[in-house]
Amino acid sequence: MKENIYDLIIIGAGPAGLTAGIYASRRKLNNLILTKDIGGQAATVPKIENYPGFEEIGGFELTDQMKKQAEKFGSQFKYEEVIKVGKANNFFEVETSAGNKYQAQTLILSFGVTPRNLDVPGEKEFLNKGVTYCANCDAPLYKDKIVAVVGGGNSALDAAEYLSKIAQKVYLIHRRDEFRGEEILVEKVKKMDNIELVLHTVVQEIKGDKFVNKIIVKNLQDESIKELAVEGVFIEIGHIVNASPVRQAVELDEKQQIIIDDYCRTSELGIFAAGDVAFGEYKQIIIAAGEGAKAALSAYKYLQQKKGKKTPVLDWSNKT
Ligand code: NAP
Repeated sequence: MKENIYDLIIIGAGPAGLTAGIYASRRKLNNLILTKDIGGQAATVPKIENYPGFEEIGGFELTDQMKKQAEKFGSQFKYEEVIKVGKANNFFEVETSAGNKYQAQTLILSFGVTPRNLDVPGEKEFLNKGVTYCANCDAPLYKDKIVAVVGGGNSALDAAEYLSKIAQKVYLIHRRDEFRGEEILVEKVKKMDNIELVLHTVVQEIKGDKFVNKIIVKNLQDESIKELAVEGVFIEIGHIVNASPVRQAVELDEKQQIIIDDYCRTSELGIFAAGDVAFGEYKQIIIAAGEGAKAALSAYKYLQQKKGKKTPVLDWSNKT
């Protein structure tokens, strides 16, 4: 085996990829994690209260711990954006925007999701000048200011609650009056004096000078339009999968999620997928981490079988 050919390349370092790194390293697979950042979407969550073992932990802190754990056991990291996944000779080949090519016997695709845009005038123009997709990163910039959070899922509720402790006032703008997020978060948000719920409402435009100074919103029930003076707009309206680097390599569903089976196997033998990028209704940190572990064990088992080795007992039901 050539030195620069890995047993496993993991693409993406969110909870799925990092957990895959921990499990693969402990099985002594020579693994490389290729990633743009550490933590992915999970790192942007200000406060996580539903990851077992931690009553409360920041997303950055949790994923940083996972990274240290993967590194300790032997995962290598390179910070490069993957632009293409294909095959070369008998190996998988991963090409990055840095112009490098890496080869491996197996791949785990765990590159997560990217924030969905509102697609309204002013959104692109004021990006990082009042418009942001990361409450955890940018909330401290809005101390004592008036801000808006857009969305009705866990991300928007989390962001609104976090911002209410920093900003002077938070408008939580949602297009319906029912929330998708956890009831416990909805209750918390409703109790905060400085959060105003603006329901049945959509943002039509983000306006400003050098920085955002107002948004134009429309009430969907009575069609009334009004202006809200805000200096920050936190867009938390879900995510999309950008699967273009792997479109030719594996089968995707209609939402561009990678189709996997119960063992995290994709349509291509030797390629596995885990976490938010993979097909699945529940996008949770604990589920991504669990799938990362499963994908790494499946990759290990596949490599063992490829070498003609008898598959060791990996779980209680496998006695062969
Ligand atoms: P989400 O659950 O998909 O919610 C997106 C919200 O944005 C929905 O309320 C949706 O409205 C609204 N929306 C979508 N497109 C819109 C548009 N164009 N204009 C206005 N509003 C729009 O997304 P999320 O909150 O980012 O959460 C994603 C996943 O991560 C979920 O599974 C969530 O549970 C998970 N998550 C978990 C945690 C945690 O465990 N601590 C934290 C954050 C996120 P409708 O409801 O009307 O469709």
